[in-house]
Amino acid sequence: MPPPFLLPVLLLVLPPSPQAAAAAEDICIVGSGISGASTAFFLTNYTAPYPAPQLRVFERRDRVGGRLATVTVAGEVFEAGGSIIHPRNLHVRRFADLLGLTAKTGGDDDEDWLGIWDGARFVFKTLRPPPPGSSWLRRKLHGLANSLLLLRRYGLSLLRMDSFVQEMLQKFMLYYNGFESRPVFDNVEEMLKWSGLYGLTRRTLEEELIDAGLNTQTISELVTVITRINYGQSTSISGLAGAVSLAGSESGLWSIKGGNWQLAAGLLKTANATLHLQEGIESISDAGDYYVLKSNKGHEYNCTVTVVATPLDEVNITFIPPISIPPRKMQHTHTTFVRGLLDPKFFGLSSVSDIPELIGTMELPDIPFSCISVRKKHGEHDMTYKIFSRVKLEDALLDQMFSTREETIRIDWPAYPHYQAPEDFAPIILDGRHLYYVNTFESAASAMETGAVAAENVARLIISRLPLGLRAGLSSAAVPEPHIESSAGEEEGPRRVDL
Ligand SMILES: Cc1cc2nc3c(=O)[nH]c(=O)nc-3n(C[C@H](O)[C@H](O)[C@H](O)COP(=O)(O)OP(=O)(O)OC[C@H]3O[C@@H](n4cnc5c(N)ncnc54)[C@H](O)[C@@H]3O)c2cc1C
Repeated sequence: MPPPFLLPVLLLVLPPSPQAAAAAEDICIVGSGISGASTAFFLTNYTAPYPAPQLRVFERRDRVGGRLATVTVAGEVFEAGGSIIHPRNLHVRRFADLLGLTAKTGGDDDEDWLGIWDGARFVFKTLRPPPPGSSWLRRKLHGLANSLLLLRRYGLSLLRMDSFVQEMLQKFMLYYNGFESRPVFDNVEEMLKWSGLYGLTRRTLEEELIDAGLNTQTISELVTVITRINYGQSTSISGLAGAVSLAGSESGLWSIKGGNWQLAAGLLKTANATLHLQEGIESISDAGDYYVLKSNKGHEYNCTVTVVATPLDEVNITFIPPISIPPRKMQHTHTTFVRGLLDPKFFGLSSVSDIPELIGTMELPDIPFSCISVRKKHGEHDMTYKIFSRVKLEDALLDQMFSTREETIRIDWPAYPHYQAPEDFAPIILDGRHLYYVNTFESAASAMETGAVAAENVARLIISRLPLGLRAGLSSAAVPEPHIESSAGEEEGPRRVDL
């Protein structure tokens, strides 16, 4: 029940008939990935203990999670899309705790034995890891020896790289501040300026790192290996995407046991959202007080608020009237799982045991893949590998790379934006009314956590701008105090409702 002082207001603003109320009270979310699921979660969470408006989530595929998905090879489950979670990704950490999901550290993405391949030879290799079951002391000494090896090759650049990442992380942590010290943002530029991260989107990673004092060898080898692994791109990505990418090489990374997609599934369930699986939205039309969403099943839904929680760059949704967003290309990452054995001859080696478990690559023409990693050793001559590449790896090439190949699984992801500097951002409010776009924030950096951070802001923005009829019943204590950072004249209609 709404607090008694709200009742007179409610009576004034309630729609005239129950039918009209039904038509006007849905919040519709297009996309069931981590961004859409987080939006649904935060909308419900921030309006508790009062019931949130009816949430509908549309997903064109037959499963939730979007770019969080697993594949099974030889009975083992592997992450095929978003896989690693940084220890300071606080929203995702909280989601996992809340949903009772088990964190998995080490193993899946915690490679030890790195080799940097230039297409002809390994220009750098860390030490082969001690055998499983080795003593704590032996493992410690191994770690120390590797640190010394890295320090000898890259020198102080390693420390400078770390400072660069820590500075970015410190600023990013501001997005977890309480409502009293964190405004609601209606555009990405202001959101980034507020935390001090905007400058990093104006220059390339390479420019930033040269200014930070890194030497060119570190940038062309270690840094490039990391950006190619995490974003399939070179060091000409923006400084911010680059810093996020470098953070993904730190220690303490984790994932959800059984698959990260469970985050999206659990959040949608917690939000009590009505999930429309295998129902793609084909058009979104502005009908005045609400939007009409037409689906590929021939259904129409009237939604007071519509949230687009998918990159719009490769999906075919017709907006009526049309919206205008800056062009953005998605970087495709081809993820290939191979069960078999790499051929040492392909790497100019005589024994398979000399091939590092994580092969990173430099930005040179003719290297057909970004990285190869051993995901599981089933036996001495039977492994599961994961390969990232910018183009499809044809059978003929795989036959050269592998001496045996029992199973091959290929996925072509429109994986993340193709980053550039300076970066352009689409609006969060696409039409100046109630059509929101979460994935504009992906132009800053693409990750599970950035999706959740963007979604949290969008949820607060929606609540702060809801028409009175919908906002009715929300607890004023629970609703974040809306202090909107805005560029002047960007929108029309009520931006804040004082009850
Ligand atoms: C290979 C790869 C590796 C990655 N590695 C990491 C990593 O290690 N760590 C990390 O944090 N992040 C990583 N990422 C990035 C991370 O996976 C994404 O940033 C994140 O999952 C994006 O979530 P999202 O909800 O914004 O979008 P998506 O997950 O893309 O969700 C959008 C959903 O919308 C649906 N949809 C689209 N159009 C329609 C329509 N018209 N109607 C209905 N539904 C529609 C799609 O089917 C999809 O399910 C990686 C991504 C890839 C591809």
